[in-house]
Amino acid sequence: MRFASLGSGSRGNALVVESAETRLLIDCGFGPRQLAQRLARLRLAPEDFHAIIVTHEHQDHASGVAACARRYGLQVLLTHGTASQIALDGVDFKVIDAHRPIEVFGLGLQPMPVPHDAREPVQFVVSDGAVRLAILTDAGCVTEHMCATVSGCDAIVIECNHDADMLANSRYPESLKRRIAGSYGHLENAAAAELLARIDRQHLRHVIAAHLSQENNRPQLARAALAEILGCEPGWIGVAEQETGFDWRQT
Ligand SMILES: [Zn+2]
Ligand SMILES: [Zn+2]
Repeated sequence: MRFASLGSGSRGNALVVESAETRLLIDCGFGPRQLAQRLARLRLAPEDFHAIIVTHEHQDHASGVAACARRYGLQVLLTHGTASQIALDGVDFKVIDAHRPIEVFGLGLQPMPVPHDAREPVQFVVSDGAVRLAILTDAGCVTEHMCATVSGCDAIVIECNHDADMLANSRYPESLKRRIAGSYGHLENAAAAELLARIDRQHLRHVIAAHLSQENNRPQLARAALAEILGCEPGWIGVAEQETGFDWRQT
């Protein structure tokens, strides 16, 4: 299994997961033309995908879902709550249970509910039977359930949205600061590090910090927070960029 990101952050997210037989897009915060352009960097086309899996309805994850699904004939999988918040006219979609593992064209997906200010948000652990990739962004705090679900994974893409001090001292309105830092907002660097500290890390070979705020975080702060827990060089930790995501990682 290998995976790559087309972009990560509040201006658009999409992640590609690929096994020998299957290619899935997790979220699509880009319109059809942007999606095709970004996929071209990975030498892929939108028609090469089997399905789009949607974590939640926020624009940065879902703005391109319906248009891309219609244009390129892709099936969409999402929770009932997420489906209720997206206009899905003319889209071939399937509702999934937020707690039940599913198989999508041979890849196993374990959804996990996360605390976030959307209707029924989930994140995922994807497995090809040999390795497990945890995708965990857009969560306001770390829960026992999140730790138990991602524990023992081989790779993790984890939200490092903000540095708590940078957010507190930013020019954002107080209400927005409260939303981002709240239990249904976004994970700060220290919370992502806390999650890594709490899980079984013996198989962990890829750690990528994702969904970084361009205002309230810096790659070196995210890397430093995670490296301290992992006892690794900060440079070993990947950072997903808003414009370029990250290149293929082979599990
Ligand atoms: Zn987001
Ligand atoms: Zn969100």
